[in-house]
Amino acid sequence: MTLEQTLPICIAGTWRLGGGERYATCYPATGEPMAWLNAASLDDVEAAVQGAHQAFLHSGWAQRKPHERATVLYRIAGLIRERAEELAQLQRQDNGKPIGETRALVASAAGTFQFFAAACETLEETITPSRGDFVSMSVYEPMGVVAAITPWNSPIASEAQKVAPALAGGNAVVIKPAEITPLLALQLARICEEAGLPKGLLSVLPGKGSVLGDALTRHPLVKRVSFTGGTRTGKHIAHIAADKMMPVSLELGGKSPTIVLDDADLDHAVAGVLYGIFSSSGEACIAGSRLFVARSLYEPFMARLTAAAAQLRVGDPADERTQMGPLISAAHRESVERYVALGLAEGGRLRLGGERPAGGVFDQGYFYPPTILEGLGNHQQVCQEEIFGPVLVAMPFDNEEALITQANDSLYALAAGIWSRDYKRAWALGRKLQAGTVWINTYKQFSISTPFGGWRDSGLGREKGRLGILQYMEQKSLYWGMNDQPLAWAGLETGQ
Ligand code: NDP
Repeated sequence: MTLEQTLPICIAGTWRLGGGERYATCYPATGEPMAWLNAASLDDVEAAVQGAHQAFLHSGWAQRKPHERATVLYRIAGLIRERAEELAQLQRQDNGKPIGETRALVASAAGTFQFFAAACETLEETITPSRGDFVSMSVYEPMGVVAAITPWNSPIASEAQKVAPALAGGNAVVIKPAEITPLLALQLARICEEAGLPKGLLSVLPGKGSVLGDALTRHPLVKRVSFTGGTRTGKHIAHIAADKMMPVSLELGGKSPTIVLDDADLDHAVAGVLYGIFSSSGEACIAGSRLFVARSLYEPFMARLTAAAAQLRVGDPADERTQMGPLISAAHRESVERYVALGLAEGGRLRLGGERPAGGVFDQGYFYPPTILEGLGNHQQVCQEEIFGPVLVAMPFDNEEALITQANDSLYALAAGIWSRDYKRAWALGRKLQAGTVWINTYKQFSISTPFGGWRDSGLGREKGRLGILQYMEQKSLYWGMNDQPLAWAGLETGQ
């Protein structure tokens, strides 16, 4: 791929230029253009959905035996692994994450395809207990065309989490990746094609979500939307889905509390809090952005945390040692800066960071340092709204009752972290926290075998887990009559 080329996109089994406007994606570490492509047009949305529908009906994919579909998914996993380094480097350029992180995301995408291949070939349909003269069964059917709408922060991993179970379930998929990070979704489509996925079963439509994502969601042939992104967009999609009576899964934002109890192992807690908020430069839905520390420990803990945060290596994402790359865009960095200014206006104090780094690579890309605010209350705006950047708000707490009230006082309820040596205490607290995921003495660890999702404004439904495939299937009950006689109600004489 050269910079001058306009990249084709994948629409209904053909690779061609999108019908929309030409635009460039940029490398956030330098602001330089990375790749040019034409966005998809509304006609392309129509072609992709119609093509997916036709492929669903006629390619035979939905009718293949589960182990046959699984074979293709295993191949996709294998091809992702073969090209792991190339994909990781591309993703680094696509969204500016440090290379160590993009390697992990690519590995996770391969693991996701492998996992759902296994889930597909081992999925059991059940014979339900008989309560009459019939055998009753519960089986699953594919839905048809699924739309997968994804954000910019973890391409390929987010796409895999939707595409793998949807394909495993026998469906066709149209991906709408984030406008600014379309490259990995396009590579994934190439890989799927090479692995033998029938043509037309997977399309990728780069471009504006407000136009293309909206049209996809409204399309009558789209039978399910799986969305990851902001809460406002998620609610918009949910409204459209309600009108269509269409199931959706929504993985949305977060403002997750991380709690350090007075008996915590401080080395573990410092490392975990740092990783929880500052990895991915805080551009993570599960970022542990509200820190609650037992008051007796607050000063010594904050001193250690601040000293360690100041040592984090911010810089070139291509450098293996870099821990924090740039933010995704100039506009997003400005939004983060506005939140920090707001925190100060609300009466907060900067314990660390708060100013753009300068000189060398910092003058080109959208870098922002680890930033810690304190002196604020949980009710204030910077504690309630998702910043999606490397900004931690630290607060002391006096007792567990007050702590639980504050930790749960959020529209969001995606994740939470607890640091304590007392497992019984941590267990009791963990059960009282309202969150889709609670990490105890660890943070931001993921397993594809463990369901993930949020409560309240953090979302609807769950991804991952062996039964994640069922989100993309309709359940059907079958009754097989076993009675020698006609149904009694009709009162027919038999043997006539
Ligand atoms: P957005 O909601 O703005 O965008 C997400 C996707 O939706 C993009 O592809 C976007 O396209 C598209 N989109 C935008 N408007 C519409 C619309 N009207 N109809 C359909 N699709 C639309 O989120 P961000 O890209 O800003 O991503 C950050 C957000 O994602 C954060 O809130 C974060 O917490 C959340 N997130 C949640 C995760 C989870 O698993 N819970 C994981 C990762 C992120 P376009 O690119 O053109 O805007």
